[in-house]
Amino acid sequence: MKIEVISCLKDNYSYLIIDEKIKKTCVIDPSESEPIINFLEKNNLKLNYILNTHHHYDHVGGNSELKKKYNSIVVGFKGDSKRIPEIDIMLEDGEIWKEENFEAKIIHIPGHTLGHICFYFYNENNLFTGDTLFSLGCGRIFEGTYEQMFLSLEKIKKLPPETKIYCGHEYTLQNSKFCITYDNKNKNLIKKIKEINEKIKDNQPTIPSTLKDELKNNIFLRSDDENIKTNLNISNSSSLETFSKLRDLKDNF
Ligand code: ZN
Ligand code: FE
Repeated sequence: MKIEVISCLKDNYSYLIIDEKIKKTCVIDPSESEPIINFLEKNNLKLNYILNTHHHYDHVGGNSELKKKYNSIVVGFKGDSKRIPEIDIMLEDGEIWKEENFEAKIIHIPGHTLGHICFYFYNENNLFTGDTLFSLGCGRIFEGTYEQMFLSLEKIKKLPPETKIYCGHEYTLQNSKFCITYDNKNKNLIKKIKEINEKIKDNQPTIPSTLKDELKNNIFLRSDDENIKTNLNISNSSSLETFSKLRDLKDNF
């Protein structure tokens, strides 16, 4: 399986998973159809499946046109079936989606939206996290509670550390500035920021990250860290309280 990172809109990423042997493909979160079609045509491929992590327009914007052109099958969360355009296959939390050689577990991770899911391709250790977990950040909480978002990230934290993280946006550089502000003693983070700057300079995506890297560097996964709590002046707070404080600060960063 090959994964192609496709830049869409201003800073979105869609991902094409390509089974090169049998020429089957699926796309995760097509923000718009044009860049996806361009890639498919150039490589003489069709689009078999469309997978959506959540209903926001910058993740489903290409659904209708792509489905019309390729007769693709749209896959999404059952609880959000009214908000995912053109949905065909509705899945529940914990369910396995398996077609051809594609095989993913659906994990419900509410917070950014109530119907947000991620797709965990466990055979290849690839996780598509939409707008829940970013590299060095997490999504804004639009529909859920702080606790829901916190618990959703806790679910992701339990996956194998070698899991590769494919998220919905290129926000990594800006996220890194927030992380280092409150996690200033983190040597791993300083190293990661150097790598990020080099990739950005070379016009390369900073994605995928790995869960291992995120656990060490992403401040939203580190709300139990004592130095971070001290920097926030909330030494006796719980991890959830620390996470909530960080999310508030990031909203205005
Ligand atoms: Zn979103
Ligand atoms: Fe988004």
